[in-house]
Amino acid sequence: MRITRVEAIPVRVPLKPGMTTKTAHGDHVTSDYVIVRVHTDGGIVGLGEATVAALWSGETSTSCAAAIHDRIGPGLLGADPTRITALRKQMDFLIKLNPFTKAAVEMALWDIAGKALGVPVYQLLGGKVRDVIPTKMMIGAFDLPRVRSLAEQFLNWGIRCLKVKVGIDLAGDVARVQAVRELAGPEIPITIDANCGWNVTTARRALEQLRRFNLLVAEQPIAPGDVEALAYLRTVGGIPIMADESVFTLADAWNVLRAHAADVISVYPGKNGGIAASIEIAQVAQAAGIACHVGSNLELGIGSAAMLHLACAVPNIDSATYPADILGPHYHESDLLAEPLALQPDGARVPDGPGLGVVLDEEQLSRYRVDHS
Ligand SMILES: [Mg+2]
Repeated sequence: MRITRVEAIPVRVPLKPGMTTKTAHGDHVTSDYVIVRVHTDGGIVGLGEATVAALWSGETSTSCAAAIHDRIGPGLLGADPTRITALRKQMDFLIKLNPFTKAAVEMALWDIAGKALGVPVYQLLGGKVRDVIPTKMMIGAFDLPRVRSLAEQFLNWGIRCLKVKVGIDLAGDVARVQAVRELAGPEIPITIDANCGWNVTTARRALEQLRRFNLLVAEQPIAPGDVEALAYLRTVGGIPIMADESVFTLADAWNVLRAHAADVISVYPGKNGGIAASIEIAQVAQAAGIACHVGSNLELGIGSAAMLHLACAVPNIDSATYPADILGPHYHESDLLAEPLALQPDGARVPDGPGLGVVLDEEQLSRYRVDHS
C-alpha cells in the first residue's frame, strides 16, 4: 500500500450559542481547523484533524494546509502508510515543530493501519486497559451569572467533574471557583486551569486562597519556562499541579519531570504531535511516578476519537483520578461525523470500528469547509 495524496481541507466550525469559551489565551468562538485525508492506492482513506490555534503552537489553518501541501504531502508521497514510526521521523525531517499538523497526519496513518487490518486503533496500541473514560466539562472565565448557568447545565446533564478557567484576575478567579463549588457541592471534583495567566506571585496567592475549595488539580498556573517556579508552586497551596502548556514535547516532559515540577502531566495527540508522541510522554512520566491526563483544545469528532483510542489504551493516563477533557464535540455546532461519538456524562466510550472508527459526514464537511474547492 502506498500514499497517493495528503489532502488538507480547512474548515470553520462555530461553537454553539452559549458554549463559546474564554481563557487566559482569549476567546474561542469559532474553530478554524483542518481536516486531513491521507489517500492510498489501495483505496483506504485515513482521517485526521488538526485543531490548530495560533496562540497554542503558532499554527493556523492556513499554515497547516501550506505545511501539508508544500512539505509533508510531497515528502510522504509513495510511502507505505503503515510504517508509522518511520513516517513520524520523516515528518520531523520535512518540517520542524507544527505538532498539530503532524498529529493530524499521524492519526490518519493509524486510521489507515487499523482499517487495513480490520481492527480499531486501540488494538494496535496494545488493547484497551479501560472501557469507560471519565470526562469533565469546562466552564470559561466568564462573569458569575454565566458561570453559574454553565455549571448548572453541566451538573443537570449528569457530569461528575468540572474544570473552571481562571488566570484572568485574582478576585474574579476566586469568585468563579467559589460559585462553582457552591453549586456542585462537596462531592464533585473541581479542577482549575489558569492557562499561563498568572505570574508566580499571583499564582502563590491564588493557590493559597483557592485551597479551601478542595480542588483536584491546578492546571498550568504560570507560563512555561521556569520549571523551578512550577516546582515551588507545588509546595504552597496544597493543590496538585498539572503541566499542560509546559509539556508539548518529550524533552519538555523530561525537563518538567527532572525538576519535580508537576504532579500530573496533560497529554493529547494535537499538542504532542501525535498519538505515539503522547504515549512516549506518558511512559517517561510513568518512570518518574507521575500520572498523565488527557487535555484538549476543543477537538471535533476525528480529533476526539484519536484521544479516546489513546486514553483507553495507556495505563499511565489516569482518567479515573483525573477525568479527561474529551469534550470538544459538546461545544461545537458540528463534529463533522456521520455518527456522533459516545460522550456521555458518566464517561466516554471508544468506537470499536476499524481504524479510528469514525466516518466523515461529507455534507457537513462541504458546509463547513472554507476553501470552496
Ligand atoms: Mg489546559
